[in-house]
Amino acid sequence: MALWFSEQASDGHRLEWKIQKMLYSGQSPYQTIEVLDTEAFGPSLVLDGIMQTTTGDEFIYHEMLAWVPLATHPHPERVLIIGGGDGGLARDVLRSPDVKEVHLVEIDPLVVEVSRTYLHRHVAAFDDPRLSLITADGMEYLKRPDIPAYDVILVDSTDPEGTGPGAVLYTPAFHQRVFSALAPDGLYVQQTGTPIYNPEVLKEASHSVAEIFPLCRVYWCSVPTYPGGFFTFTSGSKVHDLARPSRTASMPQGEWYTPEIHRAAFALPPMIERLIPPS
Ligand code: SAM
Repeated sequence: MALWFSEQASDGHRLEWKIQKMLYSGQSPYQTIEVLDTEAFGPSLVLDGIMQTTTGDEFIYHEMLAWVPLATHPHPERVLIIGGGDGGLARDVLRSPDVKEVHLVEIDPLVVEVSRTYLHRHVAAFDDPRLSLITADGMEYLKRPDIPAYDVILVDSTDPEGTGPGAVLYTPAFHQRVFSALAPDGLYVQQTGTPIYNPEVLKEASHSVAEIFPLCRVYWCSVPTYPGGFFTFTSGSKVHDLARPSRTASMPQGEWYTPEIHRAAFALPPMIERLIPPS
């Protein structure tokens, strides 16, 4: 009898994954952590019962979260990642040749340890000398008086709903800290989930970012793993417009990102335009 992992997208819709093997199951002070070997997409990380990243389709989300801002900023040398303990985002950030330094601030060291053991496609960045791993809450890290100015800040966190540690990363107080930690022409991007089922996350985050940053843009990609498929990112920028990138041709060859995909990602359906502030 096959074993299935089930994730409830809404009261009337759920996603199911056929499991070949349970690779890991544990509990940290912050969340339950599981790694499932799925038949469709291979080893996959689940936190508090929510599918976070799979070996089979992680490249879509990570390339779009990393390379849209890196292709926009003229000299993205120092990058801060908050969350992202599976390593996939850091891997793609470090594939951009301009990046000299990445600080990865992950609250839960057990996510890093488990990912290093089971998510082999994700984790090369942990052995890259340009990466510094810092175990801390992202909000608390940004309050430190000695942090450097960042060219790009990316939030690759768990969703804000529920009791997990991600909620603080979606608040206006956090966005204000991000703004202060960025260099004068810095860029910010955070994942804002699938608005098909959770429109409030995108709505609240985009309005908060637009209150603080001169430019706020929302873009999207299509990820089979996330409920609804339609997945959004919200960006804030002090100067450079992510929808008008200057350096798309210098990005690495990926499996999803191209200059055309970059530009097309900013074309939004009316149901999304209605949720976000006018740009
Ligand atoms: N890509 C996934 C998604 O969109 O579903 C998320 C990846 S998962 C590795 C996100 C990570 O964010 C988790 O490891 C979690 O521990 C971390 N995280 C959540 N809240 C955090 C916080 N306040 N500070 C730092 N890391 C946090």
